[in-house]
Amino acid sequence: MTGKSIREDICEVGRRMYAKGFIAANDGNVSVRTAEGEIWTTPTGYCKGFLTPDVLVKVSAAGEVLEGNARPSSELKMHLCVYRKRGDVQAVVHAHPPFATAHAVAGIPLDRAYMPESVVVLGTIPIAKYGTPSTEEIPEAIAPFVQNHNGLLLENHGALTWGKDLQTAYALMEALEFNAHVSFLVRQMGMERELSHERVAQLVSLRQKMGFTGAVPKGAPCAPGVDVCFVQK
Ligand SMILES: [Zn+2]
Repeated sequence: MTGKSIREDICEVGRRMYAKGFIAANDGNVSVRTAEGEIWTTPTGYCKGFLTPDVLVKVSAAGEVLEGNARPSSELKMHLCVYRKRGDVQAVVHAHPPFATAHAVAGIPLDRAYMPESVVVLGTIPIAKYGTPSTEEIPEAIAPFVQNHNGLLLENHGALTWGKDLQTAYALMEALEFNAHVSFLVRQMGMERELSHERVAQLVSLRQKMGFTGAVPKGAPCAPGVDVCFVQK
């Protein structure tokens, strides 16, 4: 992927996140690591729904600005932490999608086996301890989760996903918010049911065949032969 197409793809993801209500005003940030190990990032102080390739900023793996006139994302440290810990990750997406953020505020991780797709694609989404944005507190809080997950909630803040390319990282953000939306609705309905341990085990072998990695929900301890049962409170 060339520098130009990387920047165009970042702008497109910004437009989609804004259109879907995942970010408000100047919130959120997106980055992509190049084959050379440099990182293209969104600038701070811009609405990510209206980005143009010329305002993006290229930084080194240490965060020094290499190209661009704007200042890099204020959350760059969080992105750099993911890249340092995961050599296989080439893109990071941060947003404040309402249902995911509500879970982050309420302190509810997305760790239930509600739906097969969420078990296969998302796995378990934990909550990283609260940190002041733009400080080292956030990288320190997310570091323990980066290796074994594909995304997480930032306590009282928002959501973060990462992947082997930008399409993967962004798709995970959409999947995460969809899962949080369903989680919110079933809790409202008071009818929380979860897939059984056995069904989750089948999904785990499926996700391994499909190349997904990371921690997955445990599932519910249902009676033998029962696929779905109410969450034990
Ligand atoms: Zn944020």
